[in-house]
Amino acid sequence: MARKIFDTHFHIGKWGKRKVFTCEVQPLLKEHENYKDCEIYLQENNIDKGIVVPTYLTEEPKAGLVDYNRLVLEAVDKVDNIYGGLWVSPMPADMRYTEKILARATHSKIKVLKMSVNAWGPYTYSPKSWDKTFRYNIECILEFSKQHNLVTQLHTGVSDSRAFSEFLCQYKWIGRVQFVHMGETVEGVLEFVPRFVRWIKDNFDFYCDIALVPGFALGWIVSRLEKIEGGLNRVLFGTDAPWSSFLSHYWKVESLDIDESLKSKIFWDNAEKLYGK
Ligand SMILES: [Zn+2]
Repeated sequence: MARKIFDTHFHIGKWGKRKVFTCEVQPLLKEHENYKDCEIYLQENNIDKGIVVPTYLTEEPKAGLVDYNRLVLEAVDKVDNIYGGLWVSPMPADMRYTEKILARATHSKIKVLKMSVNAWGPYTYSPKSWDKTFRYNIECILEFSKQHNLVTQLHTGVSDSRAFSEFLCQYKWIGRVQFVHMGETVEGVLEFVPRFVRWIKDNFDFYCDIALVPGFALGWIVSRLEKIEGGLNRVLFGTDAPWSSFLSHYWKVESLDIDESLKSKIFWDNAEKLYGK
């Protein structure tokens, strides 16, 4: 079936050979080394639009912040249907790079600032883990995002939604957020979904994507969100390519036993409203 598809989360920039724990891991697919590779990825999979963000946690630690943000800016300039997210870091040692990146984030096709808590050790989303400098940096980034009407994409893993609840006890003004991965692991999803449903009921302008989520996660969150008015406007299609394949994510949605109109919200409508204009 021909569908309009918006991939709200895929990557540019070479991961290389970095070890995670003791393993040398590699993306599933050919890496997107430049805008041409991204353009081919969209074309080959009949994807209508995409948000590309830098690969991070690379062998060369500053690659995501410096070189790959540059690749995102090049991609949005060269390819019509690619929009971008710039990767920013509130880590004290990274802030001088982040300030330079923010200066470039006023580009009309930059829609997202992406932050990845898995690169923040020892800090988490909980303000209890922050010191003065880190708090100042986070507030600068969020304030910039708000002023420029950007969406903040936040990585989520195992315990991140719990820590983020503590963030929300102190900050009510975070604006629009796309939580990437919905908690990512089985345990992370179990923690994330009930909290996300609560945040939507509390009228936060939040979204989540289906990238890398385990099999049961999408059906479960759909069954919870469909009981809330507008709840299914909050789920976005995203693949994390080249870390996983387009088709495996396409079938996560296509195989759900839900109305066609709801599938089209997840594949396209929700993202087009959030990012497409
Ligand atoms: Zn990702």
